[in-house]
Amino acid sequence: MTIGRLFLLTQLVILLNFISNNRASDEQGHQIIVFAIDGLAGQAASKLWMPFSQTLASKGGMYTTRARTVYSTESKPGWISIIYGGAPADFGCLKNGKCTLPSIVKDYDSIFDVVEQQGYEVRIHSEHSIISDVLQNRWVVMRFDPSTDAMMQYSFLEHNMPQGKKRFLFFHFNNVDKQGHTIGYNSDNYHYQVICVDRMIQRMTSKLWRRNPYRTTFVIVSDHGGSGFGHGQFDLQDFQVPIMMWGYGIKREQNLFQNAISTLQVAPTILYASGLMNVTPSYWSRPRIPNIYVHPPEHGLDMNDGMLLRSLDDDGNGQDHEFWQYCPLPQMASHDDQHLINAFLIWLIFPFVLFFCLYTLHYLPYYTTLVGTNYSVHRNE
Ligand SMILES: [Zn+2]
Repeated sequence: MTIGRLFLLTQLVILLNFISNNRASDEQGHQIIVFAIDGLAGQAASKLWMPFSQTLASKGGMYTTRARTVYSTESKPGWISIIYGGAPADFGCLKNGKCTLPSIVKDYDSIFDVVEQQGYEVRIHSEHSIISDVLQNRWVVMRFDPSTDAMMQYSFLEHNMPQGKKRFLFFHFNNVDKQGHTIGYNSDNYHYQVICVDRMIQRMTSKLWRRNPYRTTFVIVSDHGGSGFGHGQFDLQDFQVPIMMWGYGIKREQNLFQNAISTLQVAPTILYASGLMNVTPSYWSRPRIPNIYVHPPEHGLDMNDGMLLRSLDDDGNGQDHEFWQYCPLPQMASHDDQHLINAFLIWLIFPFVLFFCLYTLHYLPYYTTLVGTNYSVHRNE
């Protein structure tokens, strides 16, 4: 054997070893994937608008669209309840923006802190500054504004997906809430955006699940719903949000519509499903959702469940679409556009109104004289 061949053979052995090591360690590493959808109301998370997520959660785990978020029904309190497992009032926060009272807890650990202490590689992606704000800039948040598909693409780059590690990936989508504010919660565009997010979740689940089929836990959560063009109110449309979990550690086929579930329970539930039940901070304010776990944790999603796996596949013709192709938003007049249209119409009508006023002013004395004459004629009779 020549030295050249020996060299090639050695390289091949090293490469194979590298690949098998990665695979072996990847099988060891648990993944937690959180799809955090801003402004996704409970009613919008129905099978009609989120068919894939509903199928995944209902067959592969637990779901409810009637969980309660916290007051006030704005993003900052909502994400505090989910990320810190704590009541916003404990942090001195009631609304978005600066918290107006001091926090009663110092060094409060978020779900990110806890899993990182357990050896998880944490990656946080967001389309809005709210997540950095909630985390008080203590974590690096990859910002993608306003491109959801860029966030999706980026999340699969190798340097963002460390091999052989336990991973916690957090994806914060803001476009659903944005549609709610500009065109209206309950509008067609709002629901189209929900459909779009649902397809992205389908696509991401497919990719991420295949990376580690037996040890991945998926979560869908939302911070608040909405009505009209906003939220923050004390009503059910703003309060009711979906919580869905499937995969590793979660029992299958559980409809929890009748259960009293709060967004405060999301963080302890993620820990418990991941087998990290002993590290839940004592100051997290609510216990985990009870009775939804598989112990010892097995895979919640079954690779043999062909229907479920195929439902995640591409559109059936085997083509690998880009993410943006799942979001063909129709071009409709937005709330802002409507203001522009109204302004334009006012300017269009304005010259006619002006002309009428000038005309009236000009001929008013003449008419007054005529009427006066008529009256005087009438009086003379
Ligand atoms: Zn909002």
